[in-house]
Amino acid sequence: MRDPTRKSVLVTGGAGFLGSHLCERLIADGHEVLCLDNFYTGDKSNLLALLDNPRFELLRHDITFPLYVEVDEIYNLACPASPIHYQFDPVQTTKTSVHGAINVLGLAKRVKAKIMQASTSEVYGDPQIHPQVETYFGHVNPIGIRSCYDEGKRCAETLFFDYHRQHNLRIKIARIFNTYGPRMHPNDGRVVSNFIVQALQNQPITVYGNGEQTRSFCYVDDMIDGFVRLMDSADSITGPINLGNPSEFTIDELAKLIVELTGSTSTIHYQPLPSDDPTQRQPDISRAIEVLDWRPTVALVDGLRQSIAYFDDLLGGRQDTVG
Ligand code: NAD
Ligand code: UDP
Ligand code: UDP
Repeated sequence: MRDPTRKSVLVTGGAGFLGSHLCERLIADGHEVLCLDNFYTGDKSNLLALLDNPRFELLRHDITFPLYVEVDEIYNLACPASPIHYQFDPVQTTKTSVHGAINVLGLAKRVKAKIMQASTSEVYGDPQIHPQVETYFGHVNPIGIRSCYDEGKRCAETLFFDYHRQHNLRIKIARIFNTYGPRMHPNDGRVVSNFIVQALQNQPITVYGNGEQTRSFCYVDDMIDGFVRLMDSADSITGPINLGNPSEFTIDELAKLIVELTGSTSTIHYQPLPSDDPTQRQPDISRAIEVLDWRPTVALVDGLRQSIAYFDDLLGGRQDTVG
């Protein structure tokens, strides 16, 4: 007889950075995992440890098209997360969030699956209240270069709540704040991967703007633990729930820390700030602490050490003597 605690779980965007870590965690927890990805920013190499596992299955599919499978739970992570990737084909980005949400929600409705949406702190836009609480409606430009991502994710949240109210779907919405760690794509343009790769190669560190803008960085293992706790929470917990590390740093501070930890000879080069770049961002995680008993445990310096080791290995060891 099938173990009743073993669930069949669909992870969309499972070949990406967060998705691959989530698939590993779910397999380690004893579940069956169907990983779906169109490999736009994800890669099979992120799943090497899982490909031979009989409880793991990989499906190439684009969630803007319907999908008919039988599962108990769905984590909807499919969507490019880095500005350079989501801005490369902005129409496809909106389609992925909106058409993709409709398809996975339709699927969840048919098979009565519980479903979690990977939403984002970007729903707050350039926030006017600080730190950001879930009750804040946000300050988003609907027509800017980040809008395909921000508004797509906002519309996905609307769809999740309407399927919940209209069809009694069991939904969970995680508002994810900046997360980093091994398996971020080295060229994906996000700040942590950019700075580490630049520092390891002793190249200029590209700080955009004056470096005074802030972000709060969460290590990937903490984030995945938050996803699983949210999925396992009572049906009455729909979210949205902020998941992130409240320790806030300026981009300048991050650059200096990475230079120090890598022992790099890189110097900081200031470049123009992209438009609509939020000035500050820090999650208020009171709700996650209260309802999920979740809080991040990995300090930035420790998470950066793990990430630096990963990128160092990926780049084939330092090209110069450092430290
Ligand atoms: P990622 O780019 O590494 O992963 C996204 C994955 O989705 C990739 O494997 C990509 O190939 C896949 N994908 C994209 N469009 C698809 C489509 N139409 N059909 C099927 N697959 C598709 O990014 P990530 O950092 O792992 O982000 C995962 C999710 O978490 C995203 O939804 C993102 O918006 C959200 N998120 C991430 C962060 C972060 O800091 N990492 C912050 C907020 C929200
Ligand atoms: N859908 C899917 N898999 C399913 C069920 C539905 O991909 O198992 C898609 C399908 O494309 C549908 C969408 O989800 O258009 C929304 O489904 P829903 O049942 O909510 O609406 P309808 O089928 O009436 O459009
Ligand atoms: N950033 C930077 N240099 C880089 C990449 C990013 O200074 O090489 C800045 C970017 O302008 C933003 C912050 O770092 O203020 C975080 O950028 P990221 O793209 O990682 O995430 P997001 O803006 O979506 O929070």
